[in-house]
Amino acid sequence: MAAGIETIKATVFDFLERNAAQIALLSDNIFYFGELGMQEYESAALMSGLLEDGGFTVERGISGFETGFVATAGSGGPVIALHCEYDANPNNSQCSGVLDQEAIVAGAPGHCEGHNVNAAVMVAAALAVRRAMADEGVPGTLKVFGAPAEEIAMSRPYYVRDGYFDDVDIAFHDHIWGEFSTEYGLIQIACVSAEFTFHGETAHAGLTPWRGRDALDGVVLMDMGMAQYREHMEPMMRAHRVITHGGDQPNVIPERASVWWYFRDPQAAGARRLFEQAKKIAEGAALMTNTTYEVNVKSAVWPVRGNRTVAEVIQGNIERIGMPGWTADEQAFARALQEKAEVGVEGLRTDVTPLTGPSKTMAASNDCGDVSWKVPMGRLWFPANVANINFHHWTGGAALTSGVAHKGALAGAKALAGSVLDFLASPALVAEAKSTFTEEIGDTVYESLLPADQRPDQEINRAAMETYRERMRAHYLDKRPEFI
Ligand SMILES: [Zn+2]
Repeated sequence: MAAGIETIKATVFDFLERNAAQIALLSDNIFYFGELGMQEYESAALMSGLLEDGGFTVERGISGFETGFVATAGSGGPVIALHCEYDANPNNSQCSGVLDQEAIVAGAPGHCEGHNVNAAVMVAAALAVRRAMADEGVPGTLKVFGAPAEEIAMSRPYYVRDGYFDDVDIAFHDHIWGEFSTEYGLIQIACVSAEFTFHGETAHAGLTPWRGRDALDGVVLMDMGMAQYREHMEPMMRAHRVITHGGDQPNVIPERASVWWYFRDPQAAGARRLFEQAKKIAEGAALMTNTTYEVNVKSAVWPVRGNRTVAEVIQGNIERIGMPGWTADEQAFARALQEKAEVGVEGLRTDVTPLTGPSKTMAASNDCGDVSWKVPMGRLWFPANVANINFHHWTGGAALTSGVAHKGALAGAKALAGSVLDFLASPALVAEAKSTFTEEIGDTVYESLLPADQRPDQEINRAAMETYRERMRAHYLDKRPEFI
């Protein structure tokens, strides 16, 4: 490394500023793709193609995920990993830049959590760091993971189980927020995602119901059993479900019915305990209804934790970069949106958030949890959305191609690239993060919650996506980003 770290950071920030319009275009392209988890074919192709053009070697389809990839640049240590998601949610199609609920395509999936911006920030930061590795002799290896289907907590536990993080030293996850901040400690909780399918026998429901064995009864009684069990759940445990198949028509006793559950707890062991209890309840339901059941673990994730050393490095970069400057129009739009959403009306944040104490754990999960127990990991929250707005609601999508998203993405990409460079340039800092990580995890032994032979189900969301894709295609942008 010929130049000092500050000089290299300046060239990296120059690269990102020069490419601000390309970062925005990448984010907007993915916004209009609006692809559901496991079906992010356009998003993954665009992201991995840009990384390939930028000098990365790309391996696609990792761990059996057709829309997953890892892009690698450089060689030797330290090995730094970036990872993020790019999926949308069902029935969240929302025009950006408007103050009313207005779908791009009615009923279609869409981005109302900003994963499109997460993707743009990660790819831009990676391209910037790769340029510095090539031009300035920055040492080490950069691995960029495209992680499908975060909204259904899918891919990263498979990547970790399959060894993709075995040689990683430090990892980063970036996520959109209404603030510019980072955290350490327990950030999010563990989750086992499992579908229970009951099997019975059909019969004419009017003429010979006594000949039938009703799989839907199994699902219903399991639901009742879980409802009774709620009184005995530990305070931070969560269980929620949707019935994914309930039979075909009322005069045919259902021979197959299924229910998809999430079981959550702040500890991986707690989520597993709740799952084991649910299996007993399913067994009881099957016994009562003369049916049988099988369970398919779609995915299972550890809680998300942030390493203190990595958080301090991210915070240093956040403070150096500072909040974007917002225009009066952007502030007015933010306040109007907050009013519509009936949340705190304060406009856009103008100060970065200080790093104080350990994080307040939120009762949501993210599939990057496993990574955070394998290696020291940091979470960057970058300010590309309106503060206080709730995700998965139309107001969560209303600013996602606006100046707010674009400026927040640029700030986020700088903070992420700057933090990566700090670790690439300093073996001592890598060692420090590893040492605080060892202290933090104590005697917890990481072992995957996934069954050893579990394979991801590539068919999840396929039919739902195919219902809308052609109509959504009419709204795709006609220009793709080109980083210079
Ligand atoms: Zn998210």
